[in-house]
Amino acid sequence: MHLILLGAPGAGKGTQAKKIMEKYHIPQISTGEILRQHVSDKTELGKKAKSTMDQGQLVSDGIILEMVADRLTHKDCRQGFILDGFPRTIPQAKGLEHILQNLHIKDLKVIEIHVDQETIIKRLTSRRICSNCGKDYNLNLNPPPPDNICKVCGGKIIQRDDDKEEIIRKRLEIYKNQTKPLIEFYQQKGNFFRVDGEKEIGDIFSDIENIIQ
Ligand code: AMP
Repeated sequence: MHLILLGAPGAGKGTQAKKIMEKYHIPQISTGEILRQHVSDKTELGKKAKSTMDQGQLVSDGIILEMVADRLTHKDCRQGFILDGFPRTIPQAKGLEHILQNLHIKDLKVIEIHVDQETIIKRLTSRRICSNCGKDYNLNLNPPPPDNICKVCGGKIIQRDDDKEEIIRKRLEIYKNQTKPLIEFYQQKGNFFRVDGEKEIGDIFSDIENIIQ
């Protein structure tokens, strides 16, 4: 099972990817999470990517493709994977085609989680994450404990630097200009599906399961 979850920042890709991962035992590959790990580990890549990420801009296609090409050769990807937050540009989608050809993967499905822009802004400004394990919290729906300590790992819960409203608007603009064209790209290939991301989390997951099966 090889899936791409497409959708604007805050559409719920990460939440759904984690549910798919739990049920089908295939890894979630989030380029955003891999990059945040590099930033927190202060690797060379992390140092280079940090300011780009803080400004809500995209990290270069070359860096991202190299990272993904390497990750998809890991053992845990043999039964499949869920790509979350990648590809984000047409050159990344074309680069992915080469990677998949080399790995002899032919059954890629692309699922867009569609959410209205104003809902996204509301969701992202109230999103909080654990700085250690990445667990998602939301001030309205799933509030962090009063001491801001993660229930899962004891890490500190923070607001991502790029989840401030001004940066969110920039990220949505970039999504519209650079990532949305992927919808047409995959529609033409005939492996594109869309689900309504404004529904309840469990209902969205059922819709995704119907597509997968
Ligand atoms: P995300 O967690 O997917 O919202 O990603 C956070 C940030 O990481 C983005 O705003 C970008 O700066 C960077 N990033 C993640 N994935 C990609 C990608 N596929 N291409 C370029 N930049 C990315």
